[in-house]
Amino acid sequence: MANEEVDQELYKEIQLKNELLVEGLSFDANIFENYEALGKEVTEQVNAMFNTDQKEHVNYVFPDCIITPKGHYRVSLRWIPKSPYKLKFEDGRYLIKKGHEIILDTVEFSKRPNYYDKKTSDGTLMRTVGQDSGYGIIFIPYSNECALKDKGQDCLFCNINATKSLYAERECIAWKTAGQIAETVKECYKDGYDHLTISGGFIPERREVDYYVDVAEAITEALGQPHFNGTACVGAPLDFTVFEKYKEAGFSTIATNMEIWDAGMFDLICPGKKDVCGGRQNWLNALEEELNVFGKHKVRSTFVSGIEPKESLLEGLQYLIEKGVIAMPSQWYVNVGSALAGSRTPEPEWHWDVFEKVVTMYRKNGVTWEELRNSNAAASTVPHDLFRLYEGISSAA
Ligand code: SF4
Repeated sequence: MANEEVDQELYKEIQLKNELLVEGLSFDANIFENYEALGKEVTEQVNAMFNTDQKEHVNYVFPDCIITPKGHYRVSLRWIPKSPYKLKFEDGRYLIKKGHEIILDTVEFSKRPNYYDKKTSDGTLMRTVGQDSGYGIIFIPYSNECALKDKGQDCLFCNINATKSLYAERECIAWKTAGQIAETVKECYKDGYDHLTISGGFIPERREVDYYVDVAEAITEALGQPHFNGTACVGAPLDFTVFEKYKEAGFSTIATNMEIWDAGMFDLICPGKKDVCGGRQNWLNALEEELNVFGKHKVRSTFVSGIEPKESLLEGLQYLIEKGVIAMPSQWYVNVGSALAGSRTPEPEWHWDVFEKVVTMYRKNGVTWEELRNSNAAASTVPHDLFRLYEGISSAA
């Protein structure tokens, strides 16, 4: 698709974004110590579920993301101390260099939303309840732990439990109640947000549905409407009648993340998803049933892109997209505390090729922008950026 008539400057910005997401940024951990705008005008990282850095930085707060020069694309800050891309503070501004070459002359960080300083009626910071994903979307991790840890069955790429150990106390992050979520959603929707995702680790004994229904009821009551533009991100259940309950409760879309397509690797990388959720075939059956209940392009499944061979990943994406699932490759970033820490993700070109190919699949199979946006926890991934660029849809961040 690169030869399609698109704005080449924007295309190159997305390529640079892809590089910076894969390679990360290296910098001194204390580089933001005197950055007064951080946590005031500039959004800080909130480590409510998965920290995205390669090393812990409990004593240092970092910005959440960079906005590319033309103001279109969001790039999550990923601290990778050996990255060839160096973030520096020189002459009163942040810049990025690779060797002696200046890659970005003046780095802009994302603007902090108004609600980040607000609290719910019980004093909980709203930014710990829902995090800004950009483009009018909030991400709500109801829990910051996964019960699979107790069985030693966490997914090997995942650092939810390590993130909790490192940052929960510092940032006052805990499980959220339905009331805290509803109040935060109401506040955000007043400011123009219009999509949310509820997610979290596995709850002991798989009681997700009760929790999600309570949350949905609180949200619909707070918004004064029977449905809302929201995604319930759930594990594959053993009882498929729960899908109707999610829909009746008010969720517009649902997500069940397979993470890995190859059958052998699925069992190896996601041992808990295999043992607790009826095995890989049950995940596929669950997605089929979700399609029956929620409808075509109202079901999403995310894959951790970069662990299994590319051919296998592409096969899974194509299979599901042709069925009507929004299958989404999410670049594997090797994060602190996961079982795979110390590995590395494939080269930027590897990921770029996957992203270009999946966007072609979406467009060939009639996925609309609204469907791609509203089924995902963020609309700021590289596939989202490419889709907007090719479809001529505005992407100002
Ligand atoms: S199910 Fe896997 S990916 Fe999800 S929170 Fe638990 S360990 Fe992480």
